[in-house]
Amino acid sequence: MTTNDDLFTRALGVIPGGVDSPVRAYGSVGGNPRFIAAASGARITDVEGRTYVDLVASWGPALLGHAHPEVVAAVQDAAADGLSFGAPTLGEIELAETIRERVPPAQRVRLVSTGTEATMTAVRLARGATGRDLVVKFAGCYHGHVDSLLAEAGSGVATFGLPGSAGVPAASAAQTIVVPYNDIGAIEAVFAERGEEVACVITEAAPANMGVVAPAAGFNAALRRLTAQHGALLVLDEVLTGFRVGPAGWWGLEGAEESWAADLMTFGKVVGGGMPLAAVGGRAELMELLAPTGPVYQAGTLSGNPLATAAGLATLRLADASVYAHVDRVAGVIAQAAGQALSAAGVPHVVNRAGNLFSVFFGPDAATGGVHDYAGATAQESWRYPAFFQAMLQAGVALPPSVYEAWFLTAAHDDNAVDVILEALPRAARSAARALPPG
Ligand code: PLP
Repeated sequence: MTTNDDLFTRALGVIPGGVDSPVRAYGSVGGNPRFIAAASGARITDVEGRTYVDLVASWGPALLGHAHPEVVAAVQDAAADGLSFGAPTLGEIELAETIRERVPPAQRVRLVSTGTEATMTAVRLARGATGRDLVVKFAGCYHGHVDSLLAEAGSGVATFGLPGSAGVPAASAAQTIVVPYNDIGAIEAVFAERGEEVACVITEAAPANMGVVAPAAGFNAALRRLTAQHGALLVLDEVLTGFRVGPAGWWGLEGAEESWAADLMTFGKVVGGGMPLAAVGGRAELMELLAPTGPVYQAGTLSGNPLATAAGLATLRLADASVYAHVDRVAGVIAQAAGQALSAAGVPHVVNRAGNLFSVFFGPDAATGGVHDYAGATAQESWRYPAFFQAMLQAGVALPPSVYEAWFLTAAHDDNAVDVILEALPRAARSAARALPPG
């Protein structure tokens, strides 16, 4: 039998770190990654034939669960007609229209292949539209591995304790200002000092890459007001939240109000239904600055790929109110149970929630003061997580292999899958209680 360990050894000989995306390597939780052979519904199966209830959901896209039969059929049908044409297709129009129906401020939509491309394009567009260079981002927000957005970036950058990335030119880093999340005073200070140089403020609609940290009431609206006052654009990154926390993403959850609609929005993950697809949307006059109508260049051989648009369309068609109600409900059940199990085991913690997204922060400071920004997130007792993670894995539950990631539920997490998680939590909490700090 091929084992996970065999494959990881083989992978290490040909793929840097053995993985094509760093957090997959289990670096912060220990042990070797599971190599997945198949996935269906709420479960993934590794090459050794072990099945786990999955709380990664491909890092978000699998809102309906893995390999939903109608999504798979849509992709198979599309594949039979050809894999890629490098020419326009009906599916691209339909998906763009579907995005706009759900999020009307996305008056025009351009499809790309990854969330990174979407945020990269949004930043270039903001710079092209304003003629300014500075980008303001928040510590702990991850927007993909774009040079200018990697500073204090959360996600894998936080998982491995990195300040940013080697290979980002100093000149590029100097064009990014990083401010603490949820701190309106800090961003007001930036605008007071350099407001006329700021092209855009980019923010995760509700951050979920430093663990889940919900925006304080009025925070996003304040960003909208401040950017508008200073002639800068607001870029709302909904790559993770879009079409996951609700039919119109976080913007919809916060009231779907024009008054705080961003100038540009980015979408990814769910919008591609598990295929490589993401999107930039925004005000028509800004979006028309993109080539070929405008001077801001952006392109892609596989942009709007027909298999990806088919998967995205099928997913959004199926993601109705009952899907969101179910995901909200099971997320609530698991979040509450995780908190109860940790309390029963005497582990100080807080469970942060933002819509149906949630994650656990360990430690007395998190428990008493809550976690509202990146400083709070990184100050937690992250060393408790490997023991917690491994105990869950032993019990057949695959959590995200990083304490800085959200736990993703899907429409396929039925009572049976939920029960497996509920049964696993108390023992995992006791493992976290016994964990010792490094050194
Ligand atoms: N923006 C956010 C909020 C994300 O969570 C991610 C990925 O996790 C990205 C952008 C980058 O997307 P991708 O990994 O598809 O490049």
